[in-house]
Amino acid sequence: MTNEKCLFCRIVDGAVPADVVHETDRVLAFRDIGPQAPTHVLVIPREHISSLDAAGDDHGALLGEIMLAARDVARAEGVSGPGFRAVVNTGADGGQTVDHLHLHLLGGRAMRWPPG
Ligand code: AMP
Ligand code: ZN
Repeated sequence: MTNEKCLFCRIVDGAVPADVVHETDRVLAFRDIGPQAPTHVLVIPREHISSLDAAGDDHGALLGEIMLAARDVARAEGVSGPGFRAVVNTGADGGQTVDHLHLHLLGGRAMRWPPG
């Protein structure tokens, strides 16, 4: 049995450094280490939830807080006027590589559609 914490839980704990731009008692937002746009921030719950698929019906308020944190970060980064994208990659086909629920906030350039 292993109780090793995931990468983003270690960021929540402060054991792994991150460039934190916003935090509340339940949510943390920090810059992505491999930015795909001029603004690229990850918004995560402090609680470990492995993916959106693993979220429970009782996580509704927390999921709302993640969205509202993304809104606040977008405003603070100056991208809410021109627009931004919020993405939750989920599972293998969704392109999820870190198994701790996170929302990508991307802005500062025009996004294309459909995504790859
Ligand atoms: P995903 O592919 O949707 O699971 O997104 C995971 C994201 O985490 C990727 O965009 C990575 O660049 C980012 N990432 C991985 N390690 C770190 C880290 N230590 N600090 C900040 N972002 C990270
Ligand atoms: Zn975790």
